[in-house]
Amino acid sequence: MYDIIVIGAGVVGASIARELARYKLNIAVLEAGSDAAAGSSGANSGIVHAGYDCKPGTLMARLNVQGNAMYDRICKELDVPFRRNGSLVLAFNDEDVFQLERLMVQGVKNGVADLRLLPANEVLEMEPSINPGVVAALWAPTGGITSPYELTIAMAENAADNGVEFYFEHRVESIERKENDKFRIITSRRDFVASCVINAAGVNGDVISKMAGDDSFIIHPRKGEYCLYDRKWGNMVSRTVFQPPSNMGKGVLVTPTVDGNLLIGPNAVDTEKRDDDCTSAEGLAFIYSKALESVPSLPGDGVITVFAGLRAIADEGDFIVRPSGVSEKIIHAAGICSPGLTAAPAIAREVNAILTGICGPLELKKDFNPIRKGIKRFRDMDWEERMQIVKEDPKYGRIVCRCETVTEGEIVQALRTKLPVNTTDAIKRRTRAGMGRCQGGFCTPRIMEIIERELGIPMEYITKKGGSSRIVLGRIKDFLEEGGEL
Ligand SMILES: Cc1cc2nc3c(=O)[nH]c(=O)nc-3n(C[C@H](O)[C@H](O)[C@H](O)COP(=O)(O)OP(=O)(O)OC[C@H]3O[C@@H](n4cnc5c(N)ncnc54)[C@H](O)[C@@H]3O)c2cc1C
Repeated sequence: MYDIIVIGAGVVGASIARELARYKLNIAVLEAGSDAAAGSSGANSGIVHAGYDCKPGTLMARLNVQGNAMYDRICKELDVPFRRNGSLVLAFNDEDVFQLERLMVQGVKNGVADLRLLPANEVLEMEPSINPGVVAALWAPTGGITSPYELTIAMAENAADNGVEFYFEHRVESIERKENDKFRIITSRRDFVASCVINAAGVNGDVISKMAGDDSFIIHPRKGEYCLYDRKWGNMVSRTVFQPPSNMGKGVLVTPTVDGNLLIGPNAVDTEKRDDDCTSAEGLAFIYSKALESVPSLPGDGVITVFAGLRAIADEGDFIVRPSGVSEKIIHAAGICSPGLTAAPAIAREVNAILTGICGPLELKKDFNPIRKGIKRFRDMDWEERMQIVKEDPKYGRIVCRCETVTEGEIVQALRTKLPVNTTDAIKRRTRAGMGRCQGGFCTPRIMEIIERELGIPMEYITKKGGSSRIVLGRIKDFLEEGGEL
């Protein structure tokens, strides 16, 4: 029996869980995936948008600008990388310049500070790799970059440290309203009862809403694909470089990441499937050709991985953050497409205000601790720090991922947080083991051995990301002993 159940552990659900963890409430988060950030929050551009793209007067516009302003504090509290590197929207012709002027007016109306229209020479001085055919750019110094999955995981970890319970691989399958005004939530594993339900299920926001008898909105998934370049190319630009937006989205960007890589994408393709995270040759070719328009020297090789994420586009054309019409104890945080990563901390505040409006003032916990310490990276330590930590724990002297210089000590630390961590992807997102040039080709078996040793999960049951994503089928020795033939 919980006071509040949050459905979905993306950046929105995790932000809400952390925000509400300040109060004396029993809270659980139910997540279908095997970790936080299993949906769009793990596969996006990682841009903390300044806020000039959103239509003035929308919830999106307000929460974008409010969320952006909260990032310095939140990322400091949670020990998550965040850099205000600023963003540029490039114009290559008169029509583009007209678009920039429109964005500038819109941004000012939305309350975005320090926007400026720059002439070509200033743009090229700032970013020499940009196409010399540029004629002007909109400069937004409040734009930034972060690691979207690290932030989501950090929010979830901090919520868990403050008493929130996380249930991964618990897919919500139906919701029943009980006579005592409570809700029974039936998941793929067990049932839960709660007084209040918060719907933060991303592209499944309308599915969850329908389960509760509310079909007031529909979500349309819209896919975006990306190419991530090796660190070698991470310095090609230092700001985030956009082209003018279209009615399908903010367009293809070229940006450095907080981890020193270079990211290009996304495209925007409507899809029917709510779990469609496949990339396509045409999609990747399109984003490469568009990115070349911004940075003509972008190499054709050097890409170390490709991925895709799904935007949750609501038919209402805005974020849906409100109590459901069927019961005020079901609160939607749905249709959170871009700029949802940026807006997430402000969405959490909004949900808090709605809840307070319904339930009255909530009682604060005296011992809420907003601080979370991330895993200290061996790679970033100086020589003395390295010697010291290896002396304290020899596991930090064993390099497991050679591309990213990740030690066994860091992997063991990742397995020992309050969140249930037991997949190779979960380790990757916490330590970067497997994120380098070889993409886990060398270190995955070693990581599996450590998971087996630390958690007692037999090797053949360890998965990449839960469900049926097992990595090995069994031990060849056992197979041969049982009479199998190779
Ligand atoms: C291509 C792309 C680029 C983007 N770029 C940016 C950007 O640069 N900046 C920005 O601000 N925003 C960006 N966004 C938007 C941002 O990623 C999203 O707004 C944000 O991640 C939404 O978070 P969420 O928690 O609502 O959804 P999600 O992260 O999708 O989380 C929802 C969670 O609910 C879970 N779930 C679903 N159904 C169930 C169920 N039945 N039971 C239990 N759990 C369930 C899912 O597994 C998932 O983990 C981008 C989005 C995309 C797709």
